[in-house]
Amino acid sequence: MTPITEELESPKNTMHSKHVPLLKDKKIAVFGVANKWSIAWAITQSLAAAGAQIALTYMDERTEEKVRALSGTLQDPLVLPCDVTQDDQVDTVFGKIKHEFGKLDGVIHAIAFAKKEELEGSFLKTSREGFRLALDISAYSLIALARGAAPLMEGTEGSIVTLSYIGGERVIPNYNVMGVAKSALETCVRYLAAELGEKKIRVNAISAGPVSTLAARGISGFQTLLKHAEIKAPLRRNIEASDVGDTALYLCSPLARGVTGEVLYVDAGYNIIGA
Ligand code: NAD
Repeated sequence: MTPITEELESPKNTMHSKHVPLLKDKKIAVFGVANKWSIAWAITQSLAAAGAQIALTYMDERTEEKVRALSGTLQDPLVLPCDVTQDDQVDTVFGKIKHEFGKLDGVIHAIAFAKKEELEGSFLKTSREGFRLALDISAYSLIALARGAAPLMEGTEGSIVTLSYIGGERVIPNYNVMGVAKSALETCVRYLAAELGEKKIRVNAISAGPVSTLAARGISGFQTLLKHAEIKAPLRRNIEASDVGDTALYLCSPLARGVTGEVLYVDAGYNIIGA
């Protein structure tokens, strides 16, 4: 049997060599870093280690300081404000990225929000305003970012990646309106993938297992979810944020060139278990 090596010429193999970083010369915008525990930060580290130049955004002045401090570990980062509920800020961020980077090869959308009172107890209590806010920040924002990024991604065979959770498909206690938002988000992924495919832009979601972050700790009973996942998941462990980071790297790289419109589980296999 002929051993398969990097030297073998295959007409289908568009990768150059294992020594070329997967994301060399790629420019990627990451939305959703709040602190070092953020999944978006783990993703940033995976992308940067693979050679990507990163634009980081922060939501408000409270997060700016932390994001700027983290960005100090990156090479030539751009750091920009972006509250996704503000259309002018979304426009400005892509204007600045265009000016500084000239193009965009990837967008990471790792943003979600619901009021604390919507993430505990009865789903029937979900307020009209709480529903609107959760869906606006957690699902509509993907459309807004994709619309801003698409012109910069033309000709780059770019990749848009968002973060979902199994609570968008199954009932998870207290996840409530955020489950509805994740369902909407996953549907947005499919509609965006269908529309942007002709521009060779791919759109995918990672459905991550529970990770202890600022957002996750806002969900009532989150520690119970962590314990349950650790016991029930086939790999008998909870995931690390870096597991998600490396999957996002794959989705942003040419290795995933044939993958779009997908929801990819990074949950130690939890989703396959029925009982
Ligand atoms: P996190 O709190 O670190 O990140 C959430 C981010 O959303 C923060 O950076 C926050 O600043 C940002 N954000 C909120 N409102 C915003 C707004 N109006 N404009 C701009 N940014 C805004 O928590 P995380 O767990 O890393 O969350 C990242 C993503 O991962 C979310 O979509 C979350 O639902 C998803 N996710 C998390 C888990 C988990 O267990 N932690 C599991 C599956 C999916």
